[in-house]
Amino acid sequence: MLGLMQDQQLLISSLIEFADCHHGDTEIVSRRVEGDIHRTTWREVAARSRQVANALDQEQLGFGDRVATLAWNGYRHLELYYGVSGTGRVLHTVNPRLHPDQIAWITNHAEDEIMCFDLSFLPIVQQIHGECPTVKKWIALCDADKLPADSGIPKLESYEAWISTHSSTYDWPSFDENSASSMCYTSGTTGNPKAALYSHRSTMLHTYASAMPDVMAMSARDSVLPVVPMFHVNAWGIPYSAALVGAKLVFPGPALDGKSVFELIETEKVSFAAGVPTVWQMMLGHMQANGLEFSTLKRTVIGGSACPPAMIDAFQHQYGVEVLHAWGMTELSPLGTLCTLKNKHLTQMPEQQMAIRLKQGRGIFGIEMKIVDPEGKVLPWDGKASGDLLVTGPWVIKNYFKGESDPLVRDAKGRGWFPTGDVATIDADGYLQITDRSKDVIKSGGEWISSIEVENIAVAHPAIAMAACIGVAHPKWDERPVVVVVKQPGAEVSCKELLAFYEGKTARWQIPDDVVFAESIPIGATGKILKARLREQLSDYRLPGL
Ligand code: AMP
Repeated sequence: MLGLMQDQQLLISSLIEFADCHHGDTEIVSRRVEGDIHRTTWREVAARSRQVANALDQEQLGFGDRVATLAWNGYRHLELYYGVSGTGRVLHTVNPRLHPDQIAWITNHAEDEIMCFDLSFLPIVQQIHGECPTVKKWIALCDADKLPADSGIPKLESYEAWISTHSSTYDWPSFDENSASSMCYTSGTTGNPKAALYSHRSTMLHTYASAMPDVMAMSARDSVLPVVPMFHVNAWGIPYSAALVGAKLVFPGPALDGKSVFELIETEKVSFAAGVPTVWQMMLGHMQANGLEFSTLKRTVIGGSACPPAMIDAFQHQYGVEVLHAWGMTELSPLGTLCTLKNKHLTQMPEQQMAIRLKQGRGIFGIEMKIVDPEGKVLPWDGKASGDLLVTGPWVIKNYFKGESDPLVRDAKGRGWFPTGDVATIDADGYLQITDRSKDVIKSGGEWISSIEVENIAVAHPAIAMAACIGVAHPKWDERPVVVVVKQPGAEVSCKELLAFYEGKTARWQIPDDVVFAESIPIGATGKILKARLREQLSDYRLPGL
């Protein structure tokens, strides 16, 4: 027997209509690429997202067609979040920090039809537009009078001119909640970047879960600053969860330096902020150097990389801000675990509480997790046994966009579990702690660097016979790549020459910090480089200048 409840589909358009209806006058504040501070409201964002919807219909884009963005966090980006997904098209947020060749590859793989970009990224668009045949329209996120006259991009239009002729009334369509809503590529796996393709249903369930009290605890009384970019897993879902609860949103635009972020927190009375450790490192540095204090900030979610103890300590004890350490992935929309204390921890000594806060947190309802040994045997939750972390749940991917093989690992009941590539322990209270990474990638300042790409460029140099790239701890960037190389017999190349060889072949920040010349590199029985052994061998190594 079926229940007798209404079978309305869970659709992203319902969020913006809710925010308009119940929190219409709540502010959305953005620092713009133009440098000024722009103020709008949920009502205005809703009206303009309907204009976007009408404009897309006029472009005759089909259901499921991709509309891409190359943009910072701001109100126009937010309008596209709702205008694109609400009509049944797919919002593809592209990471502008990647090398232009990678951006072109991703745009072609996604078959984007429209690309909306901030003017800061005009040079990238000028470089790639000729190589992206599926893109039939390039839209600059600016006023008509800011549009560059001689950009060389055919039929370039300004966003404001594009939406201005369209009505702000729109009847959002209803469709299957399992339809795709947005996509995000990740290089956090080996090989070419792969895209997680989110659905309306997965996004809505993740949105409900993320706002819960033991997760981000967001409410209409919050002023929320997502420093995490809207091109990184939908800014951890905050553009959606802020609409769900009617919170004020504060967008930092391109200004992510410590001074600008701190000023925005103070002037906009931010109560809750989210970002990777590197941005907080820069902000705390600025505050410490200038003897500053927060007047409104209460909580901050820190994730994407492990949060250092000194950072938790500074936020908690020096500034009275609660740190919510979180773990997630692009493939998980992204939230998996979040660290809040249980009642029984509140009476513990500060050192014991700190030991818990350093963990990545408890599973959120909706995410099931397990750790397994190399044979796939499930390991106990005792805080000691360390194994490969697998997860399953309604906002975990079942495959990548255009994925060729099934990435899931089946259990005895045939349930598919996503192998995260992280190695972890889980304690008896269910707190996860990431202890290592089995995937061969490096995370620097919250962005991925593919070890394989670094190695491939090194071995393309005529003097190099073999290369292995590893991540080395760095106080600001968390990790930086170092390439260990074996030279061809009789060949000569200096560290400086090899690093210069990387110029233009990859994004600047993906170039290794140093080259270590070695006689040999440890190789395993199957011919694979033994990275763990290599890391051990270089345990005393320090990056230059540190
Ligand atoms: P991304 O898909 O770019 O969000 O990266 C996800 C990966 O970042 C995870 O699989 C982890 O390797 C790493 N990661 C995310 N959050 C944390 C954290 N709090 N501590 C340690 N590693 C993390």
